[in-house]
Amino acid sequence: MRPGNFAVSDNWSLHKFGGSSLADAGCYERVAKYLMGLEGRRLGVVVSAMGGMTDSLLALVGLAERDDPLVVDELTAVGNRYAQTVERLTTGQRRVALLDAWGADADDIRAVLADVTQRKAASQRSRDIVSGLGELWSARLLSALLNTHEHPADWLDARKVLVVSPAELGPTVDWSKTQDNFDREVAGTHGTVVITGFIASDEEGLQTTLGRNGSDYSAAIFAALANARDVTIWTDVDGVLSADPNQVPDATVIHRMTYNEAMELAYFGAKVIHPQTLGPVIAKNIPLNIRNTFNADHPGTRIGGHESEVAGVKGITAITGMALVNLEGAGMIGVPGTADRMFRALKNASVSVTLISQASSEHSICIAVPELLASRAGDVIRDEFAEELDAGQIQRVDVTESQSIVAVVGDGMAGTPGVAARFFTTLADEGINIRAIAQGSSERNISAVIESSDVALALRAAHAGFELNVRTQND
Ligand code: ASP
Ligand code: MG
Repeated sequence: MRPGNFAVSDNWSLHKFGGSSLADAGCYERVAKYLMGLEGRRLGVVVSAMGGMTDSLLALVGLAERDDPLVVDELTAVGNRYAQTVERLTTGQRRVALLDAWGADADDIRAVLADVTQRKAASQRSRDIVSGLGELWSARLLSALLNTHEHPADWLDARKVLVVSPAELGPTVDWSKTQDNFDREVAGTHGTVVITGFIASDEEGLQTTLGRNGSDYSAAIFAALANARDVTIWTDVDGVLSADPNQVPDATVIHRMTYNEAMELAYFGAKVIHPQTLGPVIAKNIPLNIRNTFNADHPGTRIGGHESEVAGVKGITAITGMALVNLEGAGMIGVPGTADRMFRALKNASVSVTLISQASSEHSICIAVPELLASRAGDVIRDEFAEELDAGQIQRVDVTESQSIVAVVGDGMAGTPGVAARFFTTLADEGINIRAIAQGSSERNISAVIESSDVALALRAAHAGFELNVRTQND
């Protein structure tokens, strides 16, 4: 990846505001006021659509597919919501320009929807075009509002910059084209640059998206393009929590964590940030902050490439709705290729495996898979080993449903003796039975498979056992 020359000297700071931070006129004012108070850096601001807007836009496509006459009213409602927000925040020429731009987009929407109705089915392309408009409206409005307050700002259409192509693990960025586009487009802007999240172009130059909730990923990509000093994701929670607060009432905000810890914890734990988002910032070692728009005094969570200062556990997560599949047989001992056949069969059946455990006796291999796929997993493994099952070399393939994985996470666990002992003891003290365990050699995560009905108790017990409710700013 090549950084743009001027971008380095511009000393960028990137901020991203999600839909909940831009839900109404009051929210826009709050965001504008915050940005105007920042000094010393060039600001890049990635925005989502107003909260719920993307859903409304996709709903229009659904109505058009069914030729439902309600589509007319719903489009009007979408327009009214935006127009009212525009009218509350802007006046004069700026207001007229925003409403005109909206009118032109509404014409485009009507044309796409008419086509969808005629075909009785929406193509991905139609969905992408309609669902991506909310981000354009947000970017235009926020930059107009900043200018109204005499804070110079321009907005940037990410479709002119960000080139992606679809891949198995989600869209991948063409960094070389994208960096050239960024350098060119940013050269023509002044002041704060408000950038549309979520939307991009494909290799043919046609509009696409980064997938639902993709604007965090947009923020990370633009932070990398600008070689930003840091990037802040503004959301509606105080930060990444030590556990899910619905299950563990005294869960606390983790003040500092490493990229690796965030990857292990952030998504499953608090669903604050998707691990995919971290790729571009890790590549450039750009610190990423999670902050609460509605509680801006709270320092939030800072995620970076530093070494973890805390020995032991940072947080606890649970993945519910799992099943265990156990393949067992004396004939497997010392025979190469059993695991290979098992995983190949699962791959061919599109079953993704969440946890793997094999004891060194090689007498059994145990995996955890999503409960919904469990019976399919059992069937394909039985098929694969049908001969061995017949011949008695493999005794059985068992599926146990209603299981969950509870995991303790932390970089500082590596080389700290006693973490596993403490984890298992806290579970044992509550009378919780552990069916399987796994720890990778990175020692960053210890996972235990337990009955789903024990999850809440296990999370609370482990959270208290590792004293995660007592935390200091130095964490
Ligand atoms: N507006 C898009 C969505 O709702 C992208 C985002 O909010 O991140 O999925
Ligand atoms: Mg969002």
